[in-house]
Amino acid sequence: MTTMNRKPLVAGNWKMNGNKALVAEFINALNADDANGVDVVVCPPAIYLSALSAGRFAIGAQDVSALDQGAHTGDISVDMLSEVGCKYVIVGHSERREDHGETSDSVAEKAEKVVSAGLTPIVCVGEPLEVREAGDQAVQGFIREQLSALTSKLSASELNQSVIAYEPIWAIGTGKTASPEQAQDVHAFIRGELSETDAEVASGMRILYGGSVKPANAQELFSQPDVDGGLIGGASLKTDDFIAICQSAKI
Ligand code: PEP
Repeated sequence: MTTMNRKPLVAGNWKMNGNKALVAEFINALNADDANGVDVVVCPPAIYLSALSAGRFAIGAQDVSALDQGAHTGDISVDMLSEVGCKYVIVGHSERREDHGETSDSVAEKAEKVVSAGLTPIVCVGEPLEVREAGDQAVQGFIREQLSALTSKLSASELNQSVIAYEPIWAIGTGKTASPEQAQDVHAFIRGELSETDAEVASGMRILYGGSVKPANAQELFSQPDVDGGLIGGASLKTDDFIAICQSAKI
């Protein structure tokens, strides 16, 4: 598991799932659970953020606008997220890159906006299947490009307030998980890339793994030295599974 200066973090991404009943169930179940030693974040659809803020755990958004306010129908600003109690914002999830044409540059802009409001961006990176099949060099090249947009936009102190999530696209929602060794290799690579900006920031940076994490595989993934917790999709919709995964992240 993670070094002393990196507290594990487990974030649940409900995606476009959930309802008021699930919000109530999560508040009851998570409030009764002792997450001591792990930062737990639940990221529901934005419409449920206010209701979920009644829980004794952090809440996060699944996206944010890079703009401040005005004529941008359907968008939500970081100040609005902050006002309802959000502490984290997922940016650059592969589904947003795919569905909404988000690029590494627009993702970096959003991350900077989140940091400037004092919230923590969870910046997602990860390769598609064809890149994984092309081998380790191809994976590293792909992730290097995604990270370089971020490191050229954010200062070392802004990076210091950020979290990275490595989410191989071929593992998201597919039931295929990166092996602990594959995850560790990419996490170590990410930390190495970040250390070119600032070695101290890189060593303190939390790097989460996401992609079909379940109670059965969480412990082994989280026990890798550079894996500091997880970004959980499907399994974050079941209180028992999510709590079990959070427990697996305890140091
Ligand atoms: C995700 O939504 O970021 C994710 C990793 O999903 P799943 O855990 O279902 O693969």
